[in-house]
Amino acid sequence: MSDQANPFLIAQQQFDTAAELLNLHPDIRAVLRVPQRELTVNFPVRLDDGSVQMFTGYRVQHNLGRGPVKGGIRYHPSVDLDEVRALAMWMTWKCALVNIPYGGAKGGVIVDPRQLSLAELERLTRRFASDVSILLGPEKDIPAPDVNTNAQIMAWIMDTISMHRGYTVPAVITGKPIQVGGSLGRIEATGRGVSLMVREAVHKQGRSLKGLRVVVQGFGNVGSTAALLLHEMGCQVIGVADAAGAYYCASGLDIPAMRTYSERHTFRLLQGYEAPNMVPITGSELLELECDVLIPAALENQLTGENAARVRAGMIVEGANGPTTPGADAILTARGIPVVPDILANAGGVIVSYFEWVQGLQEFFWDEHDINSKLERILVNAFEEVWQLAASRALPLRTAAYLLAVQRVAEANATRGVYP
Ligand code: NAD
Repeated sequence: MSDQANPFLIAQQQFDTAAELLNLHPDIRAVLRVPQRELTVNFPVRLDDGSVQMFTGYRVQHNLGRGPVKGGIRYHPSVDLDEVRALAMWMTWKCALVNIPYGGAKGGVIVDPRQLSLAELERLTRRFASDVSILLGPEKDIPAPDVNTNAQIMAWIMDTISMHRGYTVPAVITGKPIQVGGSLGRIEATGRGVSLMVREAVHKQGRSLKGLRVVVQGFGNVGSTAALLLHEMGCQVIGVADAAGAYYCASGLDIPAMRTYSERHTFRLLQGYEAPNMVPITGSELLELECDVLIPAALENQLTGENAARVRAGMIVEGANGPTTPGADAILTARGIPVVPDILANAGGVIVSYFEWVQGLQEFFWDEHDINSKLERILVNAFEEVWQLAASRALPLRTAAYLLAVQRVAEANATRGVYP
């Protein structure tokens, strides 16, 4: 992997920019530039044919200065330690930006879950959970879903930790099914947050959502929910892509039908979906479609120094973590294309995860209206803070978001001091 595409080097570069502007003390800079704890586990899983296969997984805790750490678990063949480190660092900034009392963490297993049966997936999940359990707990590290993991996988992890402890520990993980202590609104929370950030940013530009042309890359939990909610808000979603293909329709795609189709597909893909006036395009063509808002909601490094000059979107709202490289950021800024950064745009998930954790600890559950309105208030306030700072100091939105977040984390760490 070239340095240009290494997510951890990118995350450090983004941090350095903020540290420089904040004139952060070198001691604090050194602390925050690296993760606090990293655990690599190599573990065996018995396959259905009786053989044993080894897998590798990671759990990285970036910074515990503001509280226990929080962050998703990803299953993907391209997971590596630097990716997990970057995702953990981004979680620290995200939690601080929306002011919830967590540091950042992330986990991952190098696996293509599509190659496993359901029983194998369960055994892999339970063994990984068992091996990283020395780090996990409601008071220290609380995982959640990420790419290719879902509520069922969260339930297996919760059950595994609970079996070790001898009693049920719902607050050890979030994104669980409702029947085992999950929160209403959690599955949709990240996509809902993305749609709210589109709404706020578009309103700042004095425009309306009606007829707004939206393109979404990634049609999983985040992308498909954001697409659906924006469709319901009156936008025209003209292009979507998943790992298997990309689809374009100038007059707007039928997002509810596409969601229903992908939900029924074994691997939650749009493969085989057909509709009048819809044409297949390539993944790179999708990113370069002329539109008002482009929402990358798949993986890192999608908008790069190579393709950013060809992007024809009026605005980018980052559903994925790290979809835009610093090289692309520089080009988009120079071209006057605002980028609502990941640590703000996709923070809805961790906000409702925080609600789920609080509900689990209190064993007192809230209704969906309560959850969605609290989510909206936190996100819209954070958006306003970022927007005001960016406007007053003529900074890109990402830099403004980093200044607010890094400052909060630095203050917490400085106040606690260096132990011993
Ligand atoms: P998911 O597994 O539900 O969906 C991922 C989607 O991306 C799938 O539709 C997949 O087919 C598609 N995809 C994969 N590779 C692609 C490619 N090369 N081109 C186009 N599409 C591709 O995962 P998710 O939970 O929706 O996560 C997506 C992104 O959002 C990730 O960056 C994740 O870290 C971030 N995120 C997720 C949450 C959450 O609550 N799930 C919260 C914050 C951020």
